[in-house]
Amino acid sequence: MLLRADLNVPLEDEHVADDTRIEAALPTLSLLREGGARIVLVSHLGRPKGPDPAFSMRPVAERLDERLGAPLGRADAVVGEEVRAAAEELDPGQVLLLENSRFEPGETKNDPELAGRLAQLAELYVNDAFGSSHRAHATTEGVAQLLPAYAGLLLEREVVELSSVRDAPEQPLIVILGGAKVSDKIGVIESFLERAEAILIGGAMCFSFFSAQGTPTGESLVEEEGVVLASRALEAAEGSGCELVLPSDLELGRAFAEGTERRHLDGTEVPDGWMGLDIGPGTADAYAERIALAGTVLWNGPMGAFELEPFAAGTRRVAEAVAEGPGKSIVGGGDSAAALVEFGLAEKVDWLSTGGGASLELLEGKELPGVEALDDA
Ligand code: ADP
Ligand code: MG
Repeated sequence: MLLRADLNVPLEDEHVADDTRIEAALPTLSLLREGGARIVLVSHLGRPKGPDPAFSMRPVAERLDERLGAPLGRADAVVGEEVRAAAEELDPGQVLLLENSRFEPGETKNDPELAGRLAQLAELYVNDAFGSSHRAHATTEGVAQLLPAYAGLLLEREVVELSSVRDAPEQPLIVILGGAKVSDKIGVIESFLERAEAILIGGAMCFSFFSAQGTPTGESLVEEEGVVLASRALEAAEGSGCELVLPSDLELGRAFAEGTERRHLDGTEVPDGWMGLDIGPGTADAYAERIALAGTVLWNGPMGAFELEPFAAGTRRVAEAVAEGPGKSIVGGGDSAAALVEFGLAEKVDWLSTGGGASLELLEGKELPGVEALDDA
């Protein structure tokens, strides 16, 4: 069978820097191996523009070997005669890892010819790559049209958890949004105005909202397009019954740097020469209180520049509140997930989504092509 997993892990010096996604792919892989499947495993890795040794699956294969306790077979290409021969020689329970699917230009174009060649490698297709399923690519959508196509355990759980927050959350639902770009998250804001009791805004995103309200933002990160979107969201919030909550105090720095000069701002008018790099403790406490009373908490995007230790406090406080709160907690977004892992809280939330863009699109109510194409969708 052909198994599409999301093994798109961050690399550092050609080593796996964070293996969260590899771990998340293991349950389906192990279940299929125990069931005696002959598994052709495929994923993309990074964004190479064609074959590029810097994006080879080799480091992923090494990590998988360690985790599976047995060496898996590795192909030097995605498709072709040699790959086909190797796939045919697989014994039950054996795994053949293909090269990075993006080495084939047809992958992102969802080229039917590439999909056809992938389909020749197996009789059955399983998609477990939730994080890639918002893209109609040859390994996520194209091949699913050609073979009997089913969901893997991870993809299924992602869809179940995220759809349940979207469609039938235990109330009150509190949504916490942060991170860098309003434009990434505007769809989620608009879709949850109908369903959430409150949307708590933090991260650089809040400065597009402040700018839209005419509040000075100093040197803070403000997205031009974001200001337009933010004023649209503020307007839509007016009559919605959902509260759109902005920070009431901030932590400022001179520059986006660990050792930068810092000051607290009891208010939100950022003076010239300063940038907002975290929500203040007053805001963090207020957000934590709301989170503690929620039936469901959905969190996407850090509250500040948490990679810089002096500006991690707001994100940490919110992460703790999300982890400790009695409500159901769902967290999405690569950086928010990384923050939870860093704070040692990843095990304490109910669901930590592996899909950034895919989780946002599902929450917005968009259809994911890689999911729709499955026979059991
Ligand atoms: P996620 O991956 O969880 O969806 P994003 O990618 O949207 O989150 O945003 C994460 C990034 O936002 C982090 O790199 C963080 O440094 C940045 N960020 C958050 N708050 C600020 C801020 N006030 N100023 C500049 N960057 C910020
Ligand atoms: Mg991110």
